[in-house]
Amino acid sequence: MKIVDIRATPVTVPLLAPLRHANGCHWGRFVRTIVEVETDEGIVGLGEMGGGGESAVATFNSLKSYLVGRDPAQLEEMRFLVANPTASLYNNRTQVLAALEFACLDIMGQKWGVPVCDILGGRLRDFVPFASYLFFRYPNGRDGSGEVRTVQQMVDEAAQLKATHGFTSHKMKGGVFAPEYELECYRAMAESLPGDSYRFDPNGVWSTEKAIWFGQQIEDLNNDFLEDPVFGLHGMRRTREKVRMPLATNTVVVGFEQLAANVLDTAVDVILLDTTFWGGIRPCVKAAQVCEMFQLGVAVHSSGELGIQLATMLHLGACIPNLSFSADAHYHHLVDDVIVGGKMQYVNGAIAVPTEPGLGVKLDRDKLGEYHENFLRLGGYPYDRDPLRPDWTPLVPNQRWADPKDGRTPRIPL
Ligand SMILES: [Mg+2]
Repeated sequence: MKIVDIRATPVTVPLLAPLRHANGCHWGRFVRTIVEVETDEGIVGLGEMGGGGESAVATFNSLKSYLVGRDPAQLEEMRFLVANPTASLYNNRTQVLAALEFACLDIMGQKWGVPVCDILGGRLRDFVPFASYLFFRYPNGRDGSGEVRTVQQMVDEAAQLKATHGFTSHKMKGGVFAPEYELECYRAMAESLPGDSYRFDPNGVWSTEKAIWFGQQIEDLNNDFLEDPVFGLHGMRRTREKVRMPLATNTVVVGFEQLAANVLDTAVDVILLDTTFWGGIRPCVKAAQVCEMFQLGVAVHSSGELGIQLATMLHLGACIPNLSFSADAHYHHLVDDVIVGGKMQYVNGAIAVPTEPGLGVKLDRDKLGEYHENFLRLGGYPYDRDPLRPDWTPLVPNQRWADPKDGRTPRIPL
């Protein structure tokens, strides 16, 4: 079998409300690039990458000359072809490789009649558990709904997500407001859901001293872990010496070099594996095996997905034995999806691992067209800008926090 074509289509899918984070905001929508790899046997594999636009389309188009005529099963060959580590200073194609790897695994699964997880070692579980993913949110510009800014709104949001989807673990995304205020929100949320477990992620924007302080304030709670409280392995290591709970990262261990450094001088207890950041599902499986050997914890990370990438996360979660914690997903913040059948559903806080051959998801062509039109109409958005603070630049460590008394609704094109 040979690759005959590669197509990339940027799409913009609305969110229930703008999601605030330490660097800025998801401006009420996700922009993703859907990748289709077609073979001479008529099998089409699906991939997905964060962001998009003309540059993403051009990147995938430029790789046709590398990949057309190649066997989609030659994934190790493709790794060096697309993302040779010694060339990565110049082209940085890890996330591009990931989207292509998803598509090629999808092709192989369809050809062989097996789900992707069965190519990667076989499924160990039929459902992958997820944590609720609680964001501070701006109000939706359409109807003013969805705001999460006050302590009570955060408590209510957690209760509603638990009631709707069945989550028993809750992740709060912080780094937006002063840590003292976010501590109040986190403790109130945790105390409102006794018996569940919790995790907090300020995206690495605190000083080491503030990370230690925050960690010590929450030691009495049933924390899964404290995620990226500070940016950098050395800050994490110093925090870990003084805080009695596991530390997790999706930021400072996102490749094998960093994983090796963390094994030799441990700074992080739980490695959050992202199928995009690591360059595919297979590198995540390999990393999970290293973590198994050195008895580090593992969970599946979300970098903001539609159904194709969610499928990669489900197949990863299905086949790694040492899945120590529930996964993350932005997925429940989406209004819609581009896959046939619409959004996948949570059952008791978990999502079923697809059983169809390949990734087990198919493109809904009408939705793809609709959300591509949406992309053409709205364009991209600056992920690392806050729509209500145009003069703001976050530092690391940051002290330039948003004001929790500011209840304005940003004017964002819809
Ligand atoms: Mg994180």
